[in-house]
Amino acid sequence: MPSEKCPISGSKQNIPRHIIDKAVNNIDQSKKINLIWLEAQTCSGNIISLLNAEDPDVIFLLRKMVNMTYNNSLMAEEGERAFDKFLETLNTEFILVVEGAVSTRDNGLYNVIARHEGKPITGMDAVAMAGKAAKYVIAVGSCASYGGPSSARPNPSESKSVYDFLGSEVIRVPGCPSNPQWVIGTIAHILTEGKPELDKENRPVLFYGVTVHDLCQRRSFFDRGIFAKKLGEPECMFKLGCRGPITKTNCPIRRWNNSTNWPIGDNTPCIGCARNGFPDSMEPFVRY
Ligand code: SF4
Repeated sequence: MPSEKCPISGSKQNIPRHIIDKAVNNIDQSKKINLIWLEAQTCSGNIISLLNAEDPDVIFLLRKMVNMTYNNSLMAEEGERAFDKFLETLNTEFILVVEGAVSTRDNGLYNVIARHEGKPITGMDAVAMAGKAAKYVIAVGSCASYGGPSSARPNPSESKSVYDFLGSEVIRVPGCPSNPQWVIGTIAHILTEGKPELDKENRPVLFYGVTVHDLCQRRSFFDRGIFAKKLGEPECMFKLGCRGPITKTNCPIRRWNNSTNWPIGDNTPCIGCARNGFPDSMEPFVRY
């Protein structure tokens, strides 16, 4: 018997890949746009995740797609000179990427990201300044997108999502961390075809159009009612608290670390890290 390939899952894999390939082939480098990647109230997991990008990798992003004029972790400049770059970029056309929530308590003083002319600059100040001037604002990761772990109960820093703080349009690319292909793919779409189609939570449909459960490799067990009773068993982990049925991402096909594996492939239930309400409303992450 010839092996049959599911045309639906095949097309779902190819659509985001197609956009990235198109960007790689068609990007007009003379029109590279400036990009500020601001780390606000964050563990910096998203910028680390970005460094794991493959095909295209982060070098392609930085050399051919955007001028990353400011990033707290990667830029060569330090101190005042670094923040001068931030201020200079505000007078240009640029994309603002924010990772991390916006800490608002005591005027943002729980999250100081720079010092300039003797004054502390908070993440809140920087998001307010750049959010007003940016052509596009992209919230990368679950803290920037929905508040995430940074705003989890009891939220002593009174952290908010970028949208809740700015009140203007924000493209959400959630995940804890966000997969680098979701980030580079969203930027690629903006550069080649403009803003991608967004769902009602303002997430790119390309990457967040289906649930983890729709594409899961254990779905046939679920459909036949065969469930794992403890971690490590190969069946569906629904009864162990898997949040795949209510979490929209293409994790099962995109995977992580050069598509090597992903949580369910490694016997861990989906904890809904890309979902609004994570982590408070997703706990307990495992139940028996
Ligand atoms: S392991 Fe989770 S995502 Fe996979 S089929 Fe079961 S409930 Fe759905």
